[in-house]
Amino acid sequence: MRDCAIIGGGFAGLTAALDLVKRGLDVVVLEARDRVGGRVENGVLDDGQYVELGGQWIGAGHDAVKELVDRYGLHTVGLPNKGNLVVRLRGQNLEVPSGDDGPALSPFEVSDLGQGLLRLRRLAQRLRDDPAWSASNDAWLRQDLRRWIQTNLRTQGAQLRFIEVYSAAFGPMSRTATLLEGLHQVNSGPDLESMLASNGGLNQRRVEGGMFEVCRAMAADLGDVVRTSSVVDRIEHGERSATVVLTDGTRIEARQVITTLPPRLAMKMTYDPPLPQWRTETAAKVAAGNVIKAFLVYEKPFWRDLGLSGQSSADEGSVRVTFDTTTGDDERGLLMGFFEGADADSLSKRSITLRQRSFVDSVVRTFGDVAAKPIDYIERDWSAEPFTAGCHGAHFAPGVWTTNGPVLAEPEGVLHWAGAEYSGRFNGYMEGAVRSGLDVAAAVARNCA
Ligand SMILES: Cc1cc2nc3c(=O)[nH]c(=O)nc-3n(C[C@H](O)[C@H](O)[C@H](O)COP(=O)(O)OP(=O)(O)OC[C@H]3O[C@@H](n4cnc5c(N)ncnc54)[C@H](O)[C@@H]3O)c2cc1C
Repeated sequence: MRDCAIIGGGFAGLTAALDLVKRGLDVVVLEARDRVGGRVENGVLDDGQYVELGGQWIGAGHDAVKELVDRYGLHTVGLPNKGNLVVRLRGQNLEVPSGDDGPALSPFEVSDLGQGLLRLRRLAQRLRDDPAWSASNDAWLRQDLRRWIQTNLRTQGAQLRFIEVYSAAFGPMSRTATLLEGLHQVNSGPDLESMLASNGGLNQRRVEGGMFEVCRAMAADLGDVVRTSSVVDRIEHGERSATVVLTDGTRIEARQVITTLPPRLAMKMTYDPPLPQWRTETAAKVAAGNVIKAFLVYEKPFWRDLGLSGQSSADEGSVRVTFDTTTGDDERGLLMGFFEGADADSLSKRSITLRQRSFVDSVVRTFGDVAAKPIDYIERDWSAEPFTAGCHGAHFAPGVWTTNGPVLAEPEGVLHWAGAEYSGRFNGYMEGAVRSGLDVAAAVARNCA
């Protein structure tokens, strides 16, 4: 019998496995796909260049991931900060200086922005610390987040940069985002003020070769501990051990089991005996988000000749944010964007040609006709992936994390839970996944001692 069976070879599973192996435990990682990495994946273009189809950016405070990047001798690069950001609001295109190109905002706007971020952080703290206040202000907390920004920040420059920093930290702000959702994000994500203080608010870095290289190196370190193409569909658990059953009938006995699937997906496996009802009900409330990550490939990064950074943010269109993800050794230009929420829902049922056309329509409105003729297109629809079923991460409905989040991560006898969605800090991020992998490994090691 093994000490521990880990289900899932994403960042959480690989981190837990490395930690347990280092402690001398006998571990197996069972990964359904034919590769490790989970929501971190490289795609390859026809000229051999890679694109990052899943998790890509790390930022302020992502120290556990940074430690792995350093451990494996990999290097990070920042966003190409040259050029202006394009913000498209109510049909008008505004160019906002970003990064190294000098102060984007006047001192008055900077002060306005600082006050706004401070107000948001104080509200987030109150939400966390004062349940009675949160309950009695429930209706007010459910107001439109954009309306709150307009009411609480006086200058348009600060309002735009606020949305930009927020989107860089938590992903694009949806049209239906409420103040309450924003406050939950602030409580679980990176510190917005420190993001703003460094690199014009977009202190995002990616790994040369792709974040997938980190997962590949971790798996190489683990060797035959990792078994790919191993789909788990049943866990029989007792007081002292459990048996993990694969779809091909293979049975693996272990003293402890760690499941690293997003909460809803984890509930799709069969548990014998069944899990308590509160756990399945809570997991059902943690719906996965819906994002299609897509790339348009151009003969060259044309936006640079126009004095633009390739970064854009719009209040309409099926792709509302873009980033320049051109790699250093590629002469071609790579523009990355996200289809999100309702747009992703409806377009995921349509053809890839239609999605490409829809992305092109959006960027033509932002960058002009020069964006009309990409030479290639590549995408990953994470909701269509059976072993992920949605992304970036799961979405906690208001109140679900505060009331049930921490208990959701509590073990159930010999069954442990880990993954980006179980982390109290950087929930939904690679950093959260790695931190929860470390936490769960410590708990399993204590039980095995
Ligand atoms: C498009 C996109 C962009 C993102 N961008 C960022 C970003 O820029 N920065 C950031 O920090 N985060 C980002 N994220 C989020 C980040 O990728 C995830 O939070 C993180 O990778 C999750 O790691 P995990 O180990 O918790 O889960 P996963 O990576 O989901 O790992 C779970 C593993 O379990 C496996 N599995 C599923 N079912 C079974 C089964 N039945 N049997 C066996 N194995 C199974 C899966 O194949 C998977 O490998 C992004 C995610 C997406 C999809």
